Amino acid sequence: MRIHLVGTGISQGIPVIGCRCAACQSSDIRDKRLRTAAVIDSGSTQIAFDIGPDFRQQMLRGGFTHLNAVFVTHEHSDHVAGLDDIRPYNWILRGAMPLYAEERVIKALEMHFPYAFMPPEKRYPGAPDLEVHELKEPFSSVQVGDLELLPFRVFHGALPILGYRIGKFAYITDCSYLPQESKELLHDLDVLVINALRHTQHPMHLSLSEALQLIAELAPREAYLTHLSHEMGPVASFEGMLPSHVHVGLDGMELEVQDTNL
Ligand SMILES: [Zn+2]
Ligand SMILES: [Zn+2]
Ligand SMILES: [Zn+2]
Repeated sequence: MRIHLVGTGISQGIPVIGCRCAACQSSDIRDKRLRTAAVIDSGSTQIAFDIGPDFRQQMLRGGFTHLNAVFVTHEHSDHVAGLDDIRPYNWILRGAMPLYAEERVIKALEMHFPYAFMPPEKRYPGAPDLEVHELKEPFSSVQVGDLELLPFRVFHGALPILGYRIGKFAYITDCSYLPQESKELLHDLDVLVINALRHTQHPMHLSLSEALQLIAELAPREAYLTHLSHEMGPVASFEGMLPSHVHVGLDGMELEVQDTNL
C-alpha cells in the first residue's frame, strides 16, 4: 500500500497570498504546500482522504487517473471545497463516486453544493454524482476494494471529526485532542500521519510539541507531520528538532506500508 501526501499545508496553503514571512518567501521546494489531503493506493484500489480546494491540481500532479472512493475527515473548506472536481471521475467510473462522511458533514456538503445532491431527474447534466455513505458511531470498518478502513474519533477543538486507520497506517489531520478510546485503536502502527500546525498552541490544532508528545505516546515506527502552517517557519529551520523517526511531511511524498490488514 502506498500513501501519497498530495497536500500538507494549512487551510490557506503555503505560500499564503500576500505574506512576506520566511516560509512564504522560501525558495526551498519543501516549503510549498497545497491544502492537506492524501491518496491511498493498494495497487488495485485508490481512495482519497479529503477533497479540498487543491484537489484538481493534486490529482493531475499525482497522475491519479482512477479513484474508488473519497473519505472526508470534516466539513471545513480546506478539506471539502474541491468536491465539484469529482466530475472527471464520474466520467471515468461511468457512475457515482462513493463518498464516506458523518451525518453533520454530509449536511454541510448539501448546503455548500446543493446542485450535487438534487435527485437525478432534477440535477443538471454533468453535475457531480455522489453515492453517499454515512459513517456512524460506534464506527465499524468499511471495505473498499481490497482496502479495509477503520474510522476513529478525533477532536478538532470542540468539533468531533474523523481519523482513519488502514492496516498499520493511520491518518489524523486537524486534531487538537485524541480521546483515549481512539488511542487504544492506534497501537502497533508502522506509519502515522498527524497534524502539527506551528510552534505555539492553537485551540483547534496540535502544536509541534503536542504532536511530538502524542507521537511518543502512540509509538508508531515512523511519523510524518502534516497540515503545517507558515508560522512553523521554513522546513530547514525546524527539521533538526525532530526525533529520528519523525519526519516533516512534504507535498508529493510517497510512503510505503506493507501490512494492510486491520
Ligand atoms: Zn484543515
Ligand atoms: Zn507566511
Ligand atoms: Zn479543520
